[in-house]
Amino acid sequence: MPFKIHWFKKNLRFQDNEILIKTDSSSSILLYIIEPELWIQKDMSQRQWDFIWESLKSLKTDLAKQGLHLNILYGDASEIFQKLHKKYGFTKVISEQETGIHWTFGRDKKLKSLFKELSVNWIEYPYFGVKRGNHNRDHWAGSIQNILKKPLVKKDKYIDNSIILTSQETQTPRNFYDRTPCPFRQKGGSHHAHDLLNTFLEVRGENYQKEMSSPITAEKSCSRLSPHFTHGTISLRQAFQTAEQKKLKVQSTNKVFTKSINAFLSRLYWRSHFIQKLEDEPSIELKSFITLYDEIRDQDKEKLQLWIKGETGIPFIDACMIYLRNHGWINFRMRAMLASFAAYNLWLDWRYFAPPLAALFTDFEPGIHYSQIQMQSGTTGINTIRMYNPYKQSEEQDPEANFIVNNIPSFKNVPKNLLHFPETVTPFEKQLLPPTWKDPIINVVQSSKKAKDKIYGIRKMINHKILAKSVFLKHGSRKSH
Ligand SMILES: Cc1cc2nc3c(=O)[nH]c(=O)nc-3n(C[C@H](O)[C@H](O)[C@H](O)COP(=O)(O)OP(=O)(O)OC[C@H]3O[C@@H](n4cnc5c(N)ncnc54)[C@H](O)[C@@H]3O)c2cc1C
Repeated sequence: MPFKIHWFKKNLRFQDNEILIKTDSSSSILLYIIEPELWIQKDMSQRQWDFIWESLKSLKTDLAKQGLHLNILYGDASEIFQKLHKKYGFTKVISEQETGIHWTFGRDKKLKSLFKELSVNWIEYPYFGVKRGNHNRDHWAGSIQNILKKPLVKKDKYIDNSIILTSQETQTPRNFYDRTPCPFRQKGGSHHAHDLLNTFLEVRGENYQKEMSSPITAEKSCSRLSPHFTHGTISLRQAFQTAEQKKLKVQSTNKVFTKSINAFLSRLYWRSHFIQKLEDEPSIELKSFITLYDEIRDQDKEKLQLWIKGETGIPFIDACMIYLRNHGWINFRMRAMLASFAAYNLWLDWRYFAPPLAALFTDFEPGIHYSQIQMQSGTTGINTIRMYNPYKQSEEQDPEANFIVNNIPSFKNVPKNLLHFPETVTPFEKQLLPPTWKDPIINVVQSSKKAKDKIYGIRKMINHKILAKSVFLKHGSRKSH
């Protein structure tokens, strides 16, 4: 039987994994490639790799229980496939369809022509609902519903002894773009994903809808499944179906929980909706949806550094950034506020601050990240301009300033009104503040006003309307879901 390669890219799970369905004892080579060049890209980081490494170890164990062996090789994907072809003459590669960063897009294009040259058939299974090539956005919402409702894929019996490569070399990448320590990072591996899903649907998620916006309650009440979806340690379909089953159980007795589950289900759908945008237009990682916005902002290194280190002098912004640096995760509202602050108040070019922010996310998912960054920077042309006022957010989401103090302990004795409104500190009060106190690097009200004037100035341009219409036709969400 001719050899085939089952190539794990981001779907690091055994359950509900299409690429495993056609495994076969005598001809299947199960493969993961550690690509050193990937890890020096600006949005990649050690924390993401550490999560992947834990997930790979867990996957290896799960596969071994079925008699399957995962080979982990290190090097350039094209070179590895060429070597394997010389030795095994494989005729098929089975993988998921990846919607990744520019670098992975380029690598896949290179592989496509290599496989064509070698007469290798590359079968790519699409991510839930994400379509490649020509398709109509009007019918998109209906088709993802069908995909998420399909039974999970599984094979009755896996046959022992998938091939163990003799030239095996496992090595951790050395040159990461970002090595910021992350002491409270979430752990990789399917068993952790299933634990999170179960505790979320059993108890943690009951008040999800009410508690997702504050960083104090979000850590418990949000699912925290994002790194697991990104690295594929659990399938979106499995989470969707388990949540639907839970909804059936509680909908007649618990309205609050039902609403929370509905909010969660919508977000699972959004996941694919955002990935579809990058799939349809890979350039949104590098260019604004409406390119009129591309040349208006700055690349100010000093401001970027102060923002990314949590040293802007605005305690709530800094506390959120420090929390993110230490946890590799923060809730949606705070991500949006951090991005809005960089894009509007600091007036930084989103292409300049998006990669270092991505590197701090263990769950970095290019399709969601770059679309969201552009939404929060006002460059899509089709979304409402939303500038988050950090002082208002601070007061509303952290009224007692506990979150600020937990993340910046030296502010323990600072009165909470000063933590919420640092611009109001008088010279006398300043003498009593701890030495770590810094004045805000920007006046929030003035910088917001300036940003608003500039952004609305572009929105009013005649060609903006025409460009925005074409963005909507290509990427806009349709209500049918
Ligand atoms: C600037 C910015 C950048 C972001 N970058 C990423 C990223 O790189 N990776 C990422 O997974 N999410 C990203 N998000 C979306 C969102 O903040 C996270 O998905 C969410 O906070 C993850 O926590 P959770 O798993 O507890 O989510 P839950 O609230 O429990 O939601 C469940 C799942 O739904 C999906 N989801 C939730 N919110 C969104 C959304 N707004 N858009 C698309 N899918 C969503 C995620 O897969 C999430 O795991 C970003 C948001 C912003 C504003």
